[in-house]
Amino acid sequence: MRCTTFAGMQILDGKVASTAIVAKLKEETAQRLAAGKKAPHLAAILVGSDGASETYVASKVRHCEEIGFRSTLVRLASDIPDIELLDQIERFNQNDDVDGLLVQLPLPKHISEARVIEAIHPSKDVDGFHPVSVGRMVQGLPSFVPATPYGIMLMLEQFNIPTTGKHAVVIGRSNIVGRPMSILLSTQQPHANCTVTVCHSKTHDLGYFTRQADLVVAALGKPEFLKADMVKEGAVVIDVGITRVPDATKKKGFALKGDVDFANVAPKCSWITPVPGGVGLMTIGALMTNTMEACKRRESIA
Ligand code: NAD
Repeated sequence: MRCTTFAGMQILDGKVASTAIVAKLKEETAQRLAAGKKAPHLAAILVGSDGASETYVASKVRHCEEIGFRSTLVRLASDIPDIELLDQIERFNQNDDVDGLLVQLPLPKHISEARVIEAIHPSKDVDGFHPVSVGRMVQGLPSFVPATPYGIMLMLEQFNIPTTGKHAVVIGRSNIVGRPMSILLSTQQPHANCTVTVCHSKTHDLGYFTRQADLVVAALGKPEFLKADMVKEGAVVIDVGITRVPDATKKKGFALKGDVDFANVAPKCSWITPVPGGVGLMTIGALMTNTMEACKRRESIA
């Protein structure tokens, strides 16, 4: 994989890595269509009109179009009763043409995310958040892996980053990023095999742990939290954070900030992801990969 360098360290360029994934999926989709098979179909439900969620969903639809997947987007009002959302999920569950189904998070406060996630049929759970998917992932069985950690694993693989026997410190323990990330990094596979420490909001002296890390994954949602004095020389740093910070100099009125103080941390690293242009793009590539996989699995049991 081609790599970009910045002040001596190498950039884990999400654009380069995700372009390769998209190209592969595009080719596979074209081959499927030429063989008379269906295009994978992703359905997404967006509740309300949160700015960041709108952006993420639009990007997912755009990627489907680029690859040649079909996509269906259903928009529901932010005050929709949860039963109506659950009905819509069930309609997609029953629709044989839909291969992958996701509900964009976060949801309005009156809706239980856990209930919504459990309502999605595990065979269509391309976000990998359903307890069945999580259980299978933990046991090392074939499953849909949550897109962000899966995208990071694909990135480590594509850039051939050595991980076996390394100490990985994951900051954050959410069901979406931190926890699955820590599990994946500890699994017995070539681009994992790490010794993993999970840090979170109740961790005392977080720097004590991050300074020992060969690989740091920062997924806490606090802009520029990880400072240079918290990172070991030569570490690999993966920045998952995306926070909108007000910035009057930008057309949109905000800038996207990661959880890593990039300008000061980068010179100490062997590899680092930028924000934007790093993990976010890999997340979409991983979601598209899961959608192709869902389509193929459904065919194999039809
Ligand atoms: P979350 O709020 O659900 O979880 C944050 C985690 O960070 C918690 O487990 C908490 O214990 C931990 N934490 C909070 N403050 C801490 C502190 N001071 N020290 C140590 N740990 C602390 O968030 P999330 O959904 O896991 O997302 C984390 C970040 O990643 C957010 O910025 C989010 O926008 C971003 N994100 C990016 C992508 C992507 O595609 N790049 C995908 C998902 C999430």
